[in-house]
Amino acid sequence: MPKIYLRAGHGGTSPGTAGNGLVEKQETLKHVLALAGMLAEYEVELKLARTGDTTVSLSASIEEANRWGADLYYSSHVNGFTDSRALGYESYIYTAPSAGSIRAQNILHPRQAAVWVKWGSRDRGMKRANFAELRETAMPAILVEQGFITNPGDAGLLKQGSFINELTTATVQGLVELYGLKKKEGTGGEPAAKTGKYIAAAGDTLQKVADRYNLTVGDLKRLNPHLADGTLLAGDIVYVTLPGEVEKEYAALNRELLLCREKVREFRELGRQIQLLSQKLNE
Ligand SMILES: [Zn+2]
Repeated sequence: MPKIYLRAGHGGTSPGTAGNGLVEKQETLKHVLALAGMLAEYEVELKLARTGDTTVSLSASIEEANRWGADLYYSSHVNGFTDSRALGYESYIYTAPSAGSIRAQNILHPRQAAVWVKWGSRDRGMKRANFAELRETAMPAILVEQGFITNPGDAGLLKQGSFINELTTATVQGLVELYGLKKKEGTGGEPAAKTGKYIAAAGDTLQKVADRYNLTVGDLKRLNPHLADGTLLAGDIVYVTLPGEVEKEYAALNRELLLCREKVREFRELGRQIQLLSQKLNE
């Protein structure tokens, strides 16, 4: 079974870049968790550098991937720049790349870039760089920069569940082509759904998702213990077939991440209100 090592760039004490209410370390984790969730339906072994907001050094990730004997090292990042007009997607392999790295970029880049271009951003091209992650890894390695967090348009896309869903699907399709990944055998007696999983967009409700898949809200709650309270957040994972234990755990963690982000927004809003009130008091 192919082994894919997924690194969500930054984390913990290394936030990465930030802009438009987003922080890179949270976005990279979201992308990697979405990818891992979708790949859970395939015959593939995964190892994640981190599954939460923890500090994992580059050298620790590289060492782990090398020791594990990964077939691909996939590093997820989001770009940032002082000029907010900079936008678009780009990917990197090492300056003196192996044939495997070239092949990975040739297959993954066009698929991811196509999604960015389709949604109104741009393809900045297939690039090469002397990054430690690309140089020190003993297997094909690729680093992707998923848009510019500092660009309002790109950041707007990163906030949309349906965009992330499409980007993740494109990535999975690329990995399927790269490694000939096969879908896991369906669990006993469960109907084979077309996708198995839906990622909620802003404005979605359980009822809307249920209607889309000819299910009831009760079915969805049964399949998704993390949605038992009946609410649905943009970015929530909704399984429409019976998920495994790892998938369940993943969906629950993903929801926690979404709730944390909501809290950050609330804090910001409270801070803003307090500032306004204190200005009034001082008038
Ligand atoms: Zn980064």
